Amino acid sequence: MRSGRRDFGRDRAAMVAMQLRDRGIHDERVLGAMGAIPREAFVEAQDRSFAYADEALPIEAGQTISQPYMVARMTELLDVQPGERILEIGTGSGYQAAVLAKLGARVTSIERQAELVPPARARLRDLGLGDLVEVRVADGSLGDPGGAPWDGIIVTAAAPSIPAGLRDQLADGGHLVIPVGPRARQILMDVTRHGEEWSERPDGACVFVPLIGAGGFGG
Ligand code: SAM
Repeated sequence: MRSGRRDFGRDRAAMVAMQLRDRGIHDERVLGAMGAIPREAFVEAQDRSFAYADEALPIEAGQTISQPYMVARMTELLDVQPGERILEIGTGSGYQAAVLAKLGARVTSIERQAELVPPARARLRDLGLGDLVEVRVADGSLGDPGGAPWDGIIVTAAAPSIPAGLRDQLADGGHLVIPVGPRARQILMDVTRHGEEWSERPDGACVFVPLIGAGGFGG
């Protein structure tokens, strides 16, 4: 079917059912948010018919919009509650930020590739989520200490190790969700702050584009 006539609502419902629910995403709020955000608005025009494919897709600047399952799993681990302040590092298309905003979070999203920021802002504004998400151009690999403590931090690019500064910027009880490992393959880590201690739990293998900067590769 040509992408212009595609039933994206049906594609989205199938994605939620088969890629998310059937694979163990249980948080109904996350499933609801992913079922509400039009992923086709976050991919390049020529890729719209693949918007709900079970894979990451290329976006501008050689970057990617993450696989739907990975967005859902990271969001579930983050355990976002309405009104919480969330720091996202790696805005990309803005899709992950839209899902977080749909859950009622107030999101600060940092992107190092300046050309990605105006389209991400426009998509969020068009969905009525612009007031909930602030998108900034910067190296976010060391987080945003000025905005700390953050109720949650999500890093959507791969880091060689967990940047110590990011742990310190977490609020008590908050989660830092971050892919950690070499460039070719990483482990998704769920770091939780308990006062002045942090627990770390691996959540499975993943592959992300690199986090480039002082706290990432090339730092
Ligand atoms: N969350 C995005 C989405 O929903 O479309 C996907 C992000 S993509 C997998 C990773 C992004 O991290 C890229 O856009 C890349 O430019 C960005 N990135 C890499 N290093 C960064 C850094 N130090 N600070 C901020 N963004 C960075």
